[in-house]
Amino acid sequence: MRDTYLPYGKQMLDDADIEAVVKVLKGDYLTTGPMINKFEERIAEYVGAKYAVAFTNGTAALHGACFAAGIGEGDEVITSPITFAASANCVLYQGGTVVFADIDQQSYNIDPLEIQKKITPNTKAIIPVHFTGQPVYLDAIHKLAKEHNLVIIEDAAHALGATYKGKKIGALSDMTMFSFHPVKHITTGEGGIITTNSKEYYEKLMQFRSHGITRNPELLTENHGPWYYEMQFLGYNYRMTDIQAALGYSQLEKLDGFVQRRKEIVANYNEVFRDILEVQTPYQHPDTDSSWHLYILKLNLDTLAVSRKVVFEELHKLNIGVNVHYIPVHTLSYYQELDYKKGSLPKSEQLYEEIISLPLFPLMQEQDIQDVIDAVKSVIKKVRK
Ligand SMILES: *Cc1c(COP(=O)(O)O)cnc(C)c1O
Repeated sequence: MRDTYLPYGKQMLDDADIEAVVKVLKGDYLTTGPMINKFEERIAEYVGAKYAVAFTNGTAALHGACFAAGIGEGDEVITSPITFAASANCVLYQGGTVVFADIDQQSYNIDPLEIQKKITPNTKAIIPVHFTGQPVYLDAIHKLAKEHNLVIIEDAAHALGATYKGKKIGALSDMTMFSFHPVKHITTGEGGIITTNSKEYYEKLMQFRSHGITRNPELLTENHGPWYYEMQFLGYNYRMTDIQAALGYSQLEKLDGFVQRRKEIVANYNEVFRDILEVQTPYQHPDTDSSWHLYILKLNLDTLAVSRKVVFEELHKLNIGVNVHYIPVHTLSYYQELDYKKGSLPKSEQLYEEIISLPLFPLMQEQDIQDVIDAVKSVIKKVRK
């Protein structure tokens, strides 16, 4: 067994990243300086979108997107229960109502047929989550959006670098959110961004992240002089620092290499695990090219003498830092208090019992990959019926 703990995810920084940060620290602007714009432009260019607006983190970015989409009291927004709480919480921040639609059991992504069942006259938006980095079935979701006049905010926290039908995620819907938390594809420490092709959304997002204040002469209703600004609505201070943007800009140079390395590790895992009856490797739809934020191994529980919890604990005993993504959001205690019902999303709830996320990050060495494979094999051997 390995003598050090292997986490499920971890950032990779090099000297160029550190130099980029130090350069900002020695310069004139620590925040809202030149690096923010540069970073935003690079991200927009990378995903093929017209605009990008950086935020303090992905959650704040989702909040901004819900604001820009005009989500408010009485509005329903549909999302997946198999996601991080932030995908749903952003709707609550705006006073809207979250409606969960169940997943498709192959891809574990939100199922367009289930979305359709949940659409009412009050539905205003859909927040599809590209879970693990595999894009959702965007064509079907766009069709529903068109028919029912809905805004689409993609939660692409897992999907920077992923493609759908050959097109990069980030410019295919009204707005798309990426996160730069250290376990994600590239990091700024904390950070997030919204990409969009809409000038209207762009302007709202810019103003929202800075108190609702604007100095844009086109948007002012009067003008007292060069110092003049207007606070036109209640916004927040959700601005990213230049320190973070410099790190993100430098990290972005390495993104394609990071994604490539993730794919190699996945190929290693698949090659071994596809022959083990007790586990199921992740299905990939031919229209999608995942950026592989997570590698989820599904346990065929009826072939095992124990529950997922035991498999999880046995792997941790071997220093393999497996994780579980995610506890279905509607079953979290806060959502239970809001009266969301356990049992209401059976496919998501069943999946939750069966999954573990294996370590997957670019810095993993060949020995790390082998350690994970050996550990999974030995645990399965021990607990199979
Ligand atoms: C990480 C993540 C977020 C939130 O991003 P933060 O930058 O941590 O605020 C939202 N949705 C999903 C699916 C995530 O994985």
